[in-house]
Amino acid sequence: MSIQQFANQFVCDLVAYEPGKPIEETARELGLDPETIVKLASNENPLGPAPAAIEAMKNEAAGVHIYPDGGGYKLRQALANHHGLGLENVVLGNGSNEIIELLCHCFLNPKAELIAAEHAFVVYKLMATLFGAKYVEVADPDFIHDLDGMADAITEDTRLVFIANPNNPTGTMVNQEALDRFMDRLPDHVVAVLDEAYYEFLDDAPDTVKYVREGRNVCVLRTFSKAYGLAGLRIGYGLASPQVAAILQKARQPFNANSMAQAAALAAMNDSEHVAKTMETNRTGLAFYEQAFAARDLEYVPSAANFVLVKVGDGDDLFSKMLRKGVIVRAMSGYKLPEWVRISIGTMPENERCIEVLDEVLGDEA
Ligand SMILES: *Cc1c(COP(=O)(O)O)cnc(C)c1O
Repeated sequence: MSIQQFANQFVCDLVAYEPGKPIEETARELGLDPETIVKLASNENPLGPAPAAIEAMKNEAAGVHIYPDGGGYKLRQALANHHGLGLENVVLGNGSNEIIELLCHCFLNPKAELIAAEHAFVVYKLMATLFGAKYVEVADPDFIHDLDGMADAITEDTRLVFIANPNNPTGTMVNQEALDRFMDRLPDHVVAVLDEAYYEFLDDAPDTVKYVREGRNVCVLRTFSKAYGLAGLRIGYGLASPQVAAILQKARQPFNANSMAQAAALAAMNDSEHVAKTMETNRTGLAFYEQAFAARDLEYVPSAANFVLVKVGDGDDLFSKMLRKGVIVRAMSGYKLPEWVRISIGTMPENERCIEVLDEVLGDEA
């Protein structure tokens, strides 16, 4: 008899999230020097953490024998001020992924439904499955969320609608008008989750914090993992109406945001120079890839974020061949996009190395 039959079936059936291949693991498995490996697989900041955040962590290190401020007062207050909200609107998470889990924990059950776009960030589906809920996928023609279709899909059992803006892995966006129209149609028994992990990279970002200010049933998700370069620390946050935020606060662990992360995030928030440099690096890199793909007649999805989806034929095969040459990209078969890979924008030397290796691998096949 297996213990599995006594566990929750929907948990056992889950296919766990597969993160980008780590540099150390790649080096170990292939006998490569980790220093020479280029990782463009997890949309991390190629410039590293904000210098101010490194300083703050050093200062904090000597105090880690003390539990963190479980209420996260300083960071939440700073975030509230930054967004023109109150302390009661801000929930900290161990990465914004934890807030995604908290939302599912609080609002899903085996009778409830979660709605997301067909090519949405895969964590939504994993979490819906983990709570035994029904996952409703709405087609996204041209890889763009169809918010009217998503509003049409809402039923009495719907509790959460996830909108990733811009979406990962497609890099596509919905605009203010589409969001306003969607919010006008949102019934009172549904929470709209606006996942804005790449917000800082946008030139023309829609205002969604206004829905929080209006007291609507929304949760806007932001993270320090991408533009701020703190992915390894695990710190993100949700902005929600006081009612929604209060429910989420009950479900979290008392010390879910650790003290190094709180201190680093607070410092990073005020390091606007690092964010500006990051955006500039991204703009240059994205333009480089788009031009390189166009010159090679490779189809790509124009991106608003710090990564780009490109059609290469056999994505799994290209991933392994590039990996052997020390460049880690992300295969997309898990997103039902077996012909595509997603490449995170790196520094220019990394981007150039990536295209060089892409050419070698595609050239070998021709
Ligand atoms: C990277 C990403 C996140 C953020 O994850 P963290 O847990 O904050 O590191 C959330 N949503 C999307 C769509 C992402 O791509």
